[in-house]
Amino acid sequence: MAQYHPISRYLPVTFPNGNRVRRFGKHCPACRKMVGCENMFGIATLEQDKLFLAAQAHCPACGHRFPVACVINDNKHVNRVALPMWLFRFWLKMITRNRPLPPQVESWELSDAEAAAAPSGAIVEKMSDVVCSEDVLGRFDNQPICAWVEYQGRRFEFERTAPPGGKWQLNANELLLEGRLIYRLPSVETTA
Ligand SMILES: [Zn+2]
Repeated sequence: MAQYHPISRYLPVTFPNGNRVRRFGKHCPACRKMVGCENMFGIATLEQDKLFLAAQAHCPACGHRFPVACVINDNKHVNRVALPMWLFRFWLKMITRNRPLPPQVESWELSDAEAAAAPSGAIVEKMSDVVCSEDVLGRFDNQPICAWVEYQGRRFEFERTAPPGGKWQLNANELLLEGRLIYRLPSVETTA
């Protein structure tokens, strides 16, 4: 019996059209709890624009084991496989036998965690929630950029504009205003 690896080890998989499968889960037929791909052991392989998956799932909640065999297309639709499991597995083994196992990928989990933890600074949705300086540094998106803003009694100075697409990272001493402008507390606090 060949040794199978957790399906999570094969993910994420990016289809040629750019869609990506990061996770895969299936409800346990015994207890209905979701069983994640880290508790499925088998093979996943991308062949052209389809991801083929054959595994034995181990439900961590109730211990039930059940087979998972499916094909995921590049629109992320999951189709069950009608072949007998042993045949599907055999065929998958044939097409993947000469391929090395992909290296252990942990980075995608990290980047997810980072993204969730990133906004540690202040996020202010509305301009009306801050006091703006009369000093204007310029304009961005047809809106004036104030030299500083005051929020909850603290004055933040303009630092940079936020890149489009939400790929910004806020430090603890920073404030994101209207999703566009990033202000920062001066590093030296002046007592006037
Ligand atoms: Zn279960």
